[in-house]
Amino acid sequence: MGYFYCRNCGTNSGWGIPNVPANLTGNSYQLDKYLKHNYPTANYGSNSTFDDPHSYYAYAVSASANGFYELDGKNRVNWVWDAEKRVGKTTDISGSARPDSAVKYPVFNNPSKIHGFSTALPNAIRCSNCGCELT
Ligand SMILES: [Zn+2]
Repeated sequence: MGYFYCRNCGTNSGWGIPNVPANLTGNSYQLDKYLKHNYPTANYGSNSTFDDPHSYYAYAVSASANGFYELDGKNRVNWVWDAEKRVGKTTDISGSARPDSAVKYPVFNNPSKIHGFSTALPNAIRCSNCGCELT
């Protein structure tokens, strides 16, 4: 986990807001990501999967409307959305699973690569710039 920023502070930094394309599985990159996080067939070591693949698109729309920014430990700007309910799980390399109630979009500003996966967020997140409450 890195630092979190509200929509105002993120847009003021020029980070943009996700523009959800009409189809989230329209190219091979996005289709691969969709399958990996909804119907995994390979052993990824660690992977997160959604409970309901039919909600995949709706989550992206909700995230675009209600999400905020994460600047992660590798200096990447991600888009995150707190679903406030279980949406999936993350299974680690040992096979144990953690429930997830958030969704992350690592390449949210590229419509041809936008994809999401379930994740968990820390409690009581505040914007690292202005201090407003994010969760
Ligand atoms: Zn802020």
